[in-house]
Order: sequence, then C-alpha cells, then structure tokens
Amino acid sequence: MTAPHTSLSVTTEVDQLLHRLGVPRAAHTGGDLAVRSPITGEVIAQVPTTSSSEASQVIGRAHAAFPAWRDLPAPRRGELVRLLGEELRAAKADLGRLVTLEAGKVPSEGAGEVQEMIDICDFAVGLSRQLYGLTLATERAEHRMMESWHPLGVCGVISAFNFPVAVWSWNAALALVCGDPVVWKPSEKTPLTALATHAIAQRALARFGADAPDGLLGLLLGRREVGEVLVDDPRVPVLSATGSTAMGRHVGPKLAARFARAILELGGNNAAIVAPSADLDLALRGIAFAAMGTAGQRCTTLRRLFVHDSIYDRLVPRLAKVYASVKVGDPRESGTLVGPLIDRAAFDGMQRALDESRAAGAIVHGGERVEGIGTPQACYARPALVELAAHDGPVLRETFAPILYVMRYTSLDEAIGWHNAVGAGLSSSIFTLDMREAERFLSSAGSDCGIANVNIGPSGAEIGGAFGGEKETGGGREAGSDSWKAYMRRATNTINYSTRLPLAQGVTFDI
Ligand code: NAD
Repeated sequence: MTAPHTSLSVTTEVDQLLHRLGVPRAAHTGGDLAVRSPITGEVIAQVPTTSSSEASQVIGRAHAAFPAWRDLPAPRRGELVRLLGEELRAAKADLGRLVTLEAGKVPSEGAGEVQEMIDICDFAVGLSRQLYGLTLATERAEHRMMESWHPLGVCGVISAFNFPVAVWSWNAALALVCGDPVVWKPSEKTPLTALATHAIAQRALARFGADAPDGLLGLLLGRREVGEVLVDDPRVPVLSATGSTAMGRHVGPKLAARFARAILELGGNNAAIVAPSADLDLALRGIAFAAMGTAGQRCTTLRRLFVHDSIYDRLVPRLAKVYASVKVGDPRESGTLVGPLIDRAAFDGMQRALDESRAAGAIVHGGERVEGIGTPQACYARPALVELAAHDGPVLRETFAPILYVMRYTSLDEAIGWHNAVGAGLSSSIFTLDMREAERFLSSAGSDCGIANVNIGPSGAEIGGAFGGEKETGGGREAGSDSWKAYMRRATNTINYSTRLPLAQGVTFDI
C-alpha cells in the first residue's frame, strides 16, 4: 500500500469525523457490514445492519408519529427543516470530508453535496408557507370548489451510493414540510455518511423540542433485503427509490401492486450534441466536467456525444488531449479531478464495455487502470474517450464509469434521433449558438429527457428545478418546482352555500 496523501490513514480520519459528527462507536464497529473506502480499498468500518423485524419496528414508529406530525401547521414543520439546515451548515466541512472518504468524491464535490442539502432545506422552509391549492371555477351558483393538499403518511427513501446524502435531503426536506415522517435505507456502500446525517438530524430534532414525535426520522442499514421491507410495508404510502434501472424494475411493480406512490429516480444514458455554431472552448469545458466529474459516477454523467462532422476534427483531438492529461488519483491530493471508482465491480464493468467497443471497431483513448494507489481493492481508471462509427452496442446502455462515446453526425434530425434512441431519459444538452437549433432541441420534437440544457453539460442540476427523467429513468421528480406534490394527497372540495341543491351536469333528482 502506498503512503496516503495526508498525515492520517483513512480509517483514523473516518473514526475522528464520525466521533465529531456525533455517531456512537457501536454504530460503526463490530457489525456485519464491511465498509470500504474506495480511496485505498481498506475496510474502514463494520456497521451492524438492521434486521427485518427491527426495520418493521422503525416503520411502525414512523407510522405512529404521523398523526402528530400531520397535525402541526406546515410553517411549524418548516421550522424543523430550518434547524436541520443550520445543523448541516455547522457540519458542512466534516460531512463533506466524510463523503470524500466514503464515496471517493473530490473535496469540492463532497462539500458541494452538503451544500445541496443546505439549499434544499432553505427551499423547503419557504415551501412550508406555500403548499398552495387552487380555487376552481364551479358550474353551480353559490358554490365554491377548491383543492386541499394533505400529508400522505410515511415516506420511504432508498438511495444510491453516488449521492450518499443529498438524495435523502431532497426527499426528507420536502416530505417533512409536507407532513410525512421519513424512513431511509441508504446504499450499503455508504452507510457512514448516512449515520452521520442521521446524527445531525437528531440534533435538529432535539432543538425543535417536544413537537417532533418520536420516530419521525428512521434509518435502516443494510443491503437490498432491508430496502425490500420498506417497499413491501403497507404503512409506507410513498416511496422514493434512487438507483439503477434494474432496481426500479423490482421495486416499481411491487409498489404498483399495493397502489403505493412511487418516485423512481433511475439510471441515465445522457447525451450532448455539439452543433457547427458551438462555442468550442465552452463546449470543451462543459463536456469535460459532465463526462469525467465524479469519475463518471453521476446519474447525469455525459455518456454519449454527437459532434457535427464539420467540427469533429477541431473538437475531438482537443478532448482526447484533456482526457490524457486530467489528473486521476487520490481525491485528497490537490489537483485531482478524477477520483476512484466505487469498487472492483465498477472497474470490471468499465473494462467489459471498452472490450465490447474495441470488438466493434471503436478507437479507445484511455480507460486503463491507474496503478499504485492504496490496496489492490482500490480501483482507479483513466477516463475513456471512445470514437464510434455507429450508435450501437455498449453505447445504448448505462455503464456507471467514466466512458464517453463520441460519434459524428451530419443533420440535427439524425443527432436527435440517436439522442432519443436509448432506454433512459434523464438529462441532455446541446451546444449551439443557433437559436433555431437550441429551441428545436428544447421543443417536444427535441430531447425526450426530463432535463434539457443549452450550452451547459447535462450534469450538475440546481435544487430549484424538478429533478428526474422519463422512460427507464422512472418518471419521478424530486427537489424543486412543484415536486412537493408527490409527497401529499390532493382533495377536491366542493362547498354549497346556497339553499338549493343543483346537481352537476344539470342532472335532476326530485324526491
Ligand atoms: P443500485 O440500484 O445498486 O442500488 C441503489 C439502492 O437500491 C441501494 O440502496 C440498494 O440497496 C437498493 N436496492 C437494490 N435493489 C433493491 C430492491 N430489489 N429492493 C429494494 N432496494 C433495493 O444503484 P447504485 O449502484 O447504488 O447507484 C448507481 C445507479 O443509480 C446508477 O444507475 C445511477 O444512474 C442511478 N442513480 C440515479 C439517480 C437519479 O436521480 N435518477 C441518482 C443517483 C443514482
């Protein structure tokens, strides 16, 4: 094992951070779930997992908390989220560092993830005074028709390793102001950041006082079996599940079978089009961050690039140079832009996709293992740029690693056709200075994704917008805009303040 790039070993630093963040030692030692840092591959904790019966009890406590939480006025519920935001501000440096150590993100992305949690708390506090219903025109005289929004019940949250804490906050901040208790099953690869977040939330609850019922926020740790308890429990009327499309294929039908509401945030296979008029310097920077940032392990990572034939030879060789020179390595070291893959399976999946591409005649730049960091369990790879002649083969599926497939196009119709010809529909971009092309891409005849951008890459969304995608991405929306409606139930109310009883559609029923 090579020397770590800090005076502390990862394990020692993790222990210190967990202690400072308020996680008891028993919660991360002596348990059955080994947690590895992708930075060195070493085991940094042994977390005790939640049994099915314990999970059921946690859900039961959240269910019991629902009536008291539901009955508090929404602005008062917002006060808890305000305190959560304050606690997160105070813990930002430590929690961000823990994200780096447990998930392998470079420090600015670790801190950025916690900033995203703070941002959604601020958003949700404002929202707690804006859970508006409409007043609707009624066809009957002296009647009033309106919509009311009511809390739904326990909100389950299942999250993926690559946004180990932000995804919980997108759901929890909204669910809490909407009046729903929250039970969270984080990724088995990142339970430590979940434990720390839970401890931070406990501090907010303690400051909030007795109005917060016992069991309002629950945490279940373990693999998919623990998540399945949440999926199957009829006391959970809404479940937000973030992860692979394969996971969604299991979870979605089960929720549908019991008529629970599903917020599915699944895989992406995001693309960008670089048109002849594009500002190539700007496009280069946008592509580089979107394709290589977070070592290609964002759901919104840029994976497919369609470059107009007339500019291909000006852009792609420059991109290949950036790919060859970007610093890959220990994210704790300054200047590193690409950290480790989460585990060996991710590295093997990347190599399989590259082998398949080579067999199909592609030119592959990069993609090789970067040796010499940590134990053999730590997997670092130089990002791969893959020049393909056809939109076919591995390019059609999401490989959760830094691979960018590049293809030439000659007409915008052709590029949009390829763009939409994959299962996923999460995020998309066009780089162009031509207003007609930009508007066409954003129109109903353009990108079929939940997110469509102009002159920025597909990754790095702000919390103010609704986040999510179509088709195999699952159709769910989280975070901003009116995503809150998924955490509430809508009642249409009609009030008759006349002395008559006119029926709708002019129906008569005289008795
Ligand atoms: P994963 O599907 O392996 O696991 C995600 C979570 O689901 C984990 O907590 C896991 O334990 C749980 N899980 C898996 N199968 C389950 C089942 N049958 N029942 C209940 N729970 C189950 O995903 P991952 O490897 O952690 O994350 C990477 C994937 O997540 C990528 O496909 C990425 O695109 C996607 N992702 C999507 C978004 C989004 O917002 N659309 C955000 C982040 C990640």
